[in-house]
This record gives sequence, structure tokens and C-alpha cells, in this order.
Amino acid sequence: MCIFCKIINKEIPSSIIYEDADVLAILDLAQTTLGHTLVMPKKHYANILEIPDDELAHLMSVVKMLAKRISDKLGAKGFNLLVNTNEVAGQTVMHLHVHIIPRYDENDTIKIEFTENKLDLNEIANKINEL
Ligand code: 5GP
Ligand code: ZN
Repeated sequence: MCIFCKIINKEIPSSIIYEDADVLAILDLAQTTLGHTLVMPKKHYANILEIPDDELAHLMSVVKMLAKRISDKLGAKGFNLLVNTNEVAGQTVMHLHVHIIPRYDENDTIKIEFTENKLDLNEIANKINEL
């Protein structure tokens, strides 16, 4: 059984901030920024490609509600939502989860940078749109 399934089964303790029949939200041990939260389906899906759309819709509505509640209660000015998918993208726990990472100011303890590459956008779009 995966570590998040053990948390969902209450075999491993966690700081729960939301729970319903299908979804659990806990504070991430790492607390990358204050209030860093993980929202997960109770059913084990390895990643976002496995969960049925209706269950994903409910999961994301909980994410939206909690992102606002966490921001309001902790005084965050914004937040990043992150779903790491597969090892190459930094996924370490193979049970779907959405990170809510509250943001406070430019000195907060996370840095997300987008680098620019000079690539042919038409060529890429054609490849993605190919039947
Ligand atoms: P990933 O890298 O898979 O997107 O994120 C996994 C996250 O789970 C990490 O941010 C890590 O800190 C968190 N994590 C791993 N094990 C536990 C645990 O036992 N309890 C809690 N609350 N968080 C955990
Ligand atoms: Zn699991």
C-alpha cells in the first residue's frame, strides 16, 4: 500500500485540513511555504491521467475552496497549484495529489522559473495537432 493510502486509512498520522467521502487534504510535511497542502483522492490513482473526469472535477473544486480558505486564513497573497506527474517531473509519491503552495512575497521560500527557448511554435503546434 502506498504512503498516501496509509495516511488516508489513518495508519500514518497527518495534519488533516479537509476530509469528505472521496477527498483528503493534509499539510505537506515539507511546508515549502507556510500552509503547503496536498489534496488527494481517497481512491488510489497513480496520476491525473488515471482518475475519471467526474472525480477529478470534485477534487479540483476542493482544491479551489481550500486555496481560498488557506490564503484567507494565513494571509497569502496568491498560490501555486502543482501536479507533478511521473518521476521526470518530480513526482515522488505515486498517488495523485495536487500541491497548494501559498505565496506571500517575492522572498518566500519557493522559486519557479520559466526559461525561454527559441523553438518553431508552428512546428510544435502541428506535431501536437497531428491526427
Ligand atoms: P511529489 O514530489 O510526489 O509531488 O510530492 C510528494 C510530497 O509529499 C512532498 O512534498 C513530500 O514532502 C510529501 N510527503 C511525503 N511523505 C509524506 C508524509 O508522510 N506526510 C506528509 N504530510 N507529507 C509527505
Ligand atoms: Zn495510494
